Amino acid sequence: MCICVDCFWLDRCRTYHQVENQHGQPHLAAAPDFEPEDPRIHVSLRPLAESWGSEWDVRACGSFRADPGHWQRLRPGACLPR
Ligand code: SF4
Repeated sequence: MCICVDCFWLDRCRTYHQVENQHGQPHLAAAPDFEPEDPRIHVSLRPLAESWGSEWDVRACGSFRADPGHWQRLRPGACLPR
């Protein structure tokens, strides 16, 4: 699970914006303005029918600031991104 979903900077963060691209998720912010320090992204590959897909998860970040449930409050009722 990406730690960003519980981070205060979520809807301003440029790295999370890239994670949304990788997951095919709609963006929370059109023009994020926060550059996080030292985000560590875990990339996993998974087989698709005729190719490979990848999943990106931020597992550690120097700018992480706890805000439990931030993503869910911005997308009430939606399933958390995986
Ligand atoms: S944990 Fe880091 S990369 Fe993720 S939203 Fe927060 S500041 Fe951005």
